[in-house]
Amino acid sequence: DRLPPEDRALIARREKVLGPAYRLFYEEPLHIVEGKGVWLWDKQGRRYLDAYNNVASMGHCHPHVVQAIAGQTAVLNTHTRYLHDGIVTYAERLLATMPDALGHMMFACTGSEANDLALRIARSVTGRQGVIITRLAYHGVTESVSELSPSLGDFVPRTSRVRLIDAPNGLRVSPGEQGAKLASGLAQAIAEMRADGIEPAAFLVDTIFSSDGLYPDPAGFLKPAVDLIRSEGGLFIADEVQPGFARTGDTFWGFQRHDLVPDMVTMGKPMGNGYPVSGLALRPELVQEFGMRARYFNTFGGNPVAAAAGMAVMDIIHEEGLQENARHTGAFIKSGLEAIARHHATIAQVRGAGLFLAVECVSDPDTNAPDAALAACVVNHLRRNGVLISASGPGANILKIRPPMVLQQAEAQILLDAVNDAFADHAAHRAS
Ligand code: PMP
Repeated sequence: DRLPPEDRALIARREKVLGPAYRLFYEEPLHIVEGKGVWLWDKQGRRYLDAYNNVASMGHCHPHVVQAIAGQTAVLNTHTRYLHDGIVTYAERLLATMPDALGHMMFACTGSEANDLALRIARSVTGRQGVIITRLAYHGVTESVSELSPSLGDFVPRTSRVRLIDAPNGLRVSPGEQGAKLASGLAQAIAEMRADGIEPAAFLVDTIFSSDGLYPDPAGFLKPAVDLIRSEGGLFIADEVQPGFARTGDTFWGFQRHDLVPDMVTMGKPMGNGYPVSGLALRPELVQEFGMRARYFNTFGGNPVAAAAGMAVMDIIHEEGLQENARHTGAFIKSGLEAIARHHATIAQVRGAGLFLAVECVSDPDTNAPDAALAACVVNHLRRNGVLISASGPGANILKIRPPMVLQQAEAQILLDAVNDAFADHAAHRAS
């Protein structure tokens, strides 16, 4: 056991007080004590390149966000029952990034709460109960949303109101068929739901399918399914918790890649660069009736400090050109990963948009059988070499690379060198 004794002691204390539901990353868990930009430092002063954190998207401890939070905390922190300029200006700024049809913002603290609210509104407006999601989706942890998070595992109970469809598949479905395949899965789920007397209220997707394995392409493939849910009287909810806020480079929101106008858009994670703030943008008519009947108050959601943190994030994306950086540096990483893939048949595919990338590891290039062991081996090899990524997907074989959006080319090269070493090391071991 290479862990320092004090970390082993901390793990024991942690298990004692936090119980068994919490997980730690990596074979050798990390004890991080400081962060700046794309770098993290552990207790021993060792530096790690963070290529995974999509909450600190503006970089860890970005001074503008720190200042905004500290400054507003020192002046006032109340809630949405008082007039305050912050939440209004912030809502205006967020809505300016949205299609015109999405004219209202509502605020919460977590992505789960934003999805919970979207679900509540969808069911209230349509008077229907059914929701269709992808097979390995993750949409949050509340009681109502956890049944929309099959990636939590089979033990989470799911009612017949929720139906799962296949996510896109980069290896087994050709790009040209992706849209039709998704729409036919949706049509089948709606038919099955109706056979059980349940009408579809909403089709909810993470627009880059983060936990399903990352499927950005081909742009536009979501459209047939979205057209279908609408023609069947349901709503389309875009979960932008992961792809949102310019991460995918080409567009500010993931749904824009597919040239769509959702009925509702949920957002969170990078929204406050670590300060808990989430939101829901929606068509005003959806909340009209709901808002007349049901009051919405979320004690911390959209408070003046949250608005200050959120606006600082918007400033940084704009002032530091982070959407352009995501596009640029993301393309650099993608082509570097593709170059590595050319030397390793165990890499079946490299996918990605902007600074959100995936590398699919397989044990057999003929069958594309998932190789979770290889993915875990690469993730832990990188961790030992000071670079942090993770793996996901149905076979736990898809490397997920999602660095803070301030990542520059020199740092991207460090990441690529580490990935190259990990695959080379694995190949050498296999050969010997
Ligand atoms: N939706 C997606 C796509 C997510 O990735 C997450 C968080 N991983 C959530 C919703 C839930 O967000 P939170 O953890 O802030 O509740």
